[in-house]
Parts: sequence; structure tokens; C-alpha cells
Amino acid sequence: MAKVEAAYRAGKGSKLEIDKAFYDGLVEGKANRTLIETVKVPMREGMAWEVPAGYVFRIRVPEGPQVGDFNMWNRHDPRERMWASRTRQIQRAHISTHDRIWSTLPFLRPMVTIIDDTLASYGEDEQGGRVHDLLGTRCDPYVNHLLTGEDFDHHCHSNLVRAVLPYGLTEFDVHDVLNVFQCTGLNEDDQYFMKTCPARKGDYLEFFAEIDLLCALSCCPGGDLSVDLWGPEAQDPLSTCHPLEVEIYKLEDKVLEGWKPPVSPNYRGQHGLQKPSIDWCAEKDRLQRKD
Ligand SMILES: [Zn+2]
Repeated sequence: MAKVEAAYRAGKGSKLEIDKAFYDGLVEGKANRTLIETVKVPMREGMAWEVPAGYVFRIRVPEGPQVGDFNMWNRHDPRERMWASRTRQIQRAHISTHDRIWSTLPFLRPMVTIIDDTLASYGEDEQGGRVHDLLGTRCDPYVNHLLTGEDFDHHCHSNLVRAVLPYGLTEFDVHDVLNVFQCTGLNEDDQYFMKTCPARKGDYLEFFAEIDLLCALSCCPGGDLSVDLWGPEAQDPLSTCHPLEVEIYKLEDKVLEGWKPPVSPNYRGQHGLQKPSIDWCAEKDRLQRKD
């Protein structure tokens, strides 16, 4: 297949270009770091955590293969949250080291930059599968009821809802996810497929927080996705479920010298809305004076 160039490309000096040397200098073994918190995400549950700007967090597989559904908000304003579809366009449909996750409008700035990924070498498999998926979204009890007629309360959507309630967020704040450790693609009929999770104990995906964040992760009830959730072969995949873990690290100050949180584009237009050509208040005053 002929290669068609990407629509969104980073030219020299573009805002899409990243300083790879800076981010490569933040990884384990290059910069000193202190573990400040470990968050355990039990199987079929969700957890939320905060990360200050300039810190690093790592989502890891502590026992066995398991996919996770990840959400993220600006800690101070949940209207700014990760934008999966724009990230797909600006970066890729499956993300890895040096890719960023971008925020919704009107904020549009990188919320995190991925600095390390033990599955980076997975690339594309013989069926077109790739890892860390932005194509799909979370499993939820509504689509489950639609397909099976049954109620189940531990889908990723519900796990994320319960995780963020203590932070003042609701079901309406939960949004399209990054499917961490999840191998997916589009088949020849352009339909979404999921394959067995290739992650092994010790694998991780690591992020640098560009702004203060609230994050949430669900340990998908689908486990390693080796068992169908829906369709003729469907079974309960409980035996394939494992926990996930998150580690939050503070970096030594000197490696962050010169780094600043990214700012939003300085768009000053008003979406084409113009100031009215007639000042109606002044006109009303003039007519009233005439009376
Ligand atoms: Zn799920």
C-alpha cells in the first residue's frame, strides 16, 4: 500500500515538534527520581490519583496481562480533559514513546508526554494489531445491556465513575479513553478488533505530566481480552483478570530547568461573532429622549 502522508505533520519549529533529548533525559537511570506514591488498582475496579505538573507516573503490570482504561483531567478545571480523537489525528491511533495526549477545546495543549514504553518494540503485528489503543473506548453497562440484556456494574465506565466521585466529578465527566496495554486494529472490513494483551509482568507505560492532573484508571473486566465478551463464544473472562499498579515519581529539580507547562493557542477571534454595528442601548436612549 502506498504511503499517504499524515494530515497533521510537525514541520521544523512546529508546535508539534518535541524536544526528544529533554524527554529522553527524564527516564529511569537518566534522572534521579523519588517514588512518592503507589496506587494499586484491583481487578475489575477503578482508582483515581493526582499528579503535579513536572512529575512522572508509570502504569505497570504487576502480575499478569491486563488492559486498562485511562482518563485524565486538568486538576483545577475538569472541563479540560484528554481528547482522544484529536490525539489520534495529531499523534497516532496507537501511542508510544514521544507521543502526547492533547486536551479538549478551547485548551488544546499537551497534558502528558509518554517518555517510556516497554512494549514500544511491538510495532505492528501480522494482523495489523498495535498496542496502547486510542481507536476504541471503554466498555460500559449500557452497551452491555444493549447486547446481552443483563446488568453488570464493573465495566470500565462504571469503575471510572466510582473512582472520580470523591473528586467531585460525575458520570458526565468520564470520557473516551486510552486503552493501555490493549492490542487493537481495524480489519479488512474496517471493523474494530481486539487481540490478547501482549503485556507481561513488569511491563509499563510511563508519562510526564505537563500540567497538574487528575487521572483515573479502570482494570477492565475483560482481563487480557483473550476471551470474547460478546458474541457466540462469549464467556466470563474473570480467570484472565489481573490488577494494575500506578507509581508516581518526583524528578530531581535540575532536569526540569527551563521546562514550563505548555500554554493554549492564543486564538483571539470569537468564532466569527462580531460586535453589533448598532449600539441598541444608545439607540433606545435616543428614541426615549425623542418621546
Ligand atoms: Zn473495559
